[in-house]
Amino acid sequence: MSARVPLAGVVGAPVGHSLSPRLHGAWLSRYGIAGHYVPFHVAPSDFEEALRAMPKMGVVGVNVTIPHKVAALELADKASDAARAIGAANMLTFGADGSVEAENTDHYGFMANLRAGAPDWRAAGTRALVLGAGGAARAVLYALCEAGVAEIYLVNRTRETAERLAEVFVDPVRVAPWEDASDLLGAVDLVVNTTSLGMTGQPPLTFPLDGLRAGQVVTDLVYAPLETELLRAARAAGAMAVDGLGMLLHQAVPAFERWFGQRPDVDEDLRRTVLG
Ligand code: NAP
Repeated sequence: MSARVPLAGVVGAPVGHSLSPRLHGAWLSRYGIAGHYVPFHVAPSDFEEALRAMPKMGVVGVNVTIPHKVAALELADKASDAARAIGAANMLTFGADGSVEAENTDHYGFMANLRAGAPDWRAAGTRALVLGAGGAARAVLYALCEAGVAEIYLVNRTRETAERLAEVFVDPVRVAPWEDASDLLGAVDLVVNTTSLGMTGQPPLTFPLDGLRAGQVVTDLVYAPLETELLRAARAAGAMAVDGLGMLLHQAVPAFERWFGQRPDVDEDLRRTVLG
């Protein structure tokens, strides 16, 4: 009998926009691996049933995207510390017995991208400003806390959501009013936009960006467009700007390695292929 060809994919609703099939497909062909990575459109009401069926169909693991990330963690038999702390999973691996193991690799992707884009960046002594308190912000806060960032100002349009996050990531996180975001821009060493503002089809960031200055690192999770208004203003001010595409590429590394047995590289060629 021939060895089984690994089958993996991404589960979401919608899922057609996901760049993950193109990304994993590029790695499969680069490393000459016999495997498949496909999009699965699954409605929330069918999520559990689909998940239970997947290991029986030979699926070794799936990435999970909107709107299933919280349900994925809740349905898992086992979860990593990161997934628990972040409160969501973006990677599920199936055991031979059908068991489900949940991980969250967004925090890894964020930090790997930051370190690749700003190699001189150091966590020690750093003061950071995080804009937004949604799902992505949780992964960013986890990564910054794990790295040992000294002070994190968290601002969000809806202050209560930020307050709830500050209760989870207690030590370095201070909630500040959304109205103070512009003033705080100049007072920190690292600025991270985790809101959807600036994304194609969304409004731009609503406050002045003229506080940005040389010596800072500014990163935006939004990657469509690649060069957001925030990153353009950062570059114009002489700050180091790190775009969000790298986070998407790096967060996929642990999944590819686990399911297809090869630690893949993230490089310019991959960025070009994924951008099409
Ligand atoms: P989410 O959970 O829906 O959170 C959205 C955030 O944006 C919230 O903080 C929300 O504030 C804020 N926001 C939305 N509209 C706003 C407005 N008009 N004014 C002020 N704040 C506003 O979404 P998410 O999953 O965290 O994703 C956020 C962004 O990160 C998206 O653009 C997503 O594509 C991107 N992302 C990128 C990567 C990557 O790999 N690069 C990974 C994950 C996410 P309220 O709490 O006040 O609503």
